[in-house]
Amino acid sequence: MERIYVTVRARPLSPEESKCSPWKISGSSIHLTNQPSKFEFVADRVFGDECRTIDVYEARTKEIVASAVRGFNGTVFAYGQTNSGKTYTMRGSNSEPGIIPLAVHDLFKSIQEAMILLLYIFCQIKTLPICGQFMHVLLSFSPKDMDREFLLRMSYMEIYNEEINDLLVPEHRKLQIHESLERGIYVAGLREEIVTCAEQVLDLMEFGESHRHIGETNMNLHSSRSHTIFRMIIESKERVEEEGTIDSCDAVRVSVLNLVDLAGSERAAKTGAEGVRLKEGSHINKSLMTLGTVIKKLSEGAESQGGHVPYRDSKLTRILQPALGGNANTSIICNITLAQVHADETKSSLQFASRAL
Ligand code: ADP
Ligand code: MG
Repeated sequence: MERIYVTVRARPLSPEESKCSPWKISGSSIHLTNQPSKFEFVADRVFGDECRTIDVYEARTKEIVASAVRGFNGTVFAYGQTNSGKTYTMRGSNSEPGIIPLAVHDLFKSIQEAMILLLYIFCQIKTLPICGQFMHVLLSFSPKDMDREFLLRMSYMEIYNEEINDLLVPEHRKLQIHESLERGIYVAGLREEIVTCAEQVLDLMEFGESHRHIGETNMNLHSSRSHTIFRMIIESKERVEEEGTIDSCDAVRVSVLNLVDLAGSERAAKTGAEGVRLKEGSHINKSLMTLGTVIKKLSEGAESQGGHVPYRDSKLTRILQPALGGNANTSIICNITLAQVHADETKSSLQFASRAL
């Protein structure tokens, strides 16, 4: 497994928040300036409040997307307290695209660029390389290593109170996790929509978001208490050219790219929650705690040494298991606020991120 890559991103302060921040960023380090404890965290990259999402994307996610096209699983998390900019970073805003649209465009761009090249090549043998829903992609052209044909699917789900809901099909609620020899670990009944262009993916995501509002009096509250997993499944097989005809090779390569907007990491106890809110809070705490433990175990190399990694302790880690362990690429974007009032939460987010290093 590649080492888990940790990026820190601070969001701009709002006018109400004090401009006098106790944090100082220098290079890839961030530290508290006003505490005798001298808290300091060194990440792979630290982005201050003037950075752009594309810079955060290019720090590591871009490579993870490229690896996913080559057949390696990948997962990118946005972690942080509510209001720290997780959704802004992952989904973006009207003024700036987020990690998800950037990744989706990159994915299709690599396919389309290759298709142009393929069309040029195959014009000579008068064969149009389009077959059903498959897209033919020349990843690295050489006369022998011809091309691969691709099938892309997307799914979009949320985990709310340890229940899995399909955001693409509103009726698909409380889905179960299954495991089989053929499919590995999967969410039974989860819609996997075949997609052929970036716009289709982003429209589906919009659809998923819009129906989340139904029955929710407070959308922000709901989204801050649920984990959202956006997933692209990339399936490809090699095509071999023999004497002017093209055959598909049977070996199918499947990789999964998960882009995850986690529930707010603030502790329920601190927000004075009761009843339903307390139950939500305890589920969130448990799944984020399990995620922290899984990440720590992985970064210590427990899995490769045959040690126990507690994936089964939460739905989140169980669903993501195939794209966390093994030869998967993982990255955490730790979203923080530099405001004085949030100093404790920011510190605890950075402490969470430190488990990955
Ligand atoms: P979270 O998902 O962590 O609860 P949001 O992404 O909803 O937080 O961000 C909280 C608020 O801050 C939103 O109004 C969002 O538009 C704004 N915001 C967050 N990050 C940025 C940023 N980098 N630039 C501008 N506005 C941001
Ligand atoms: Mg959010």
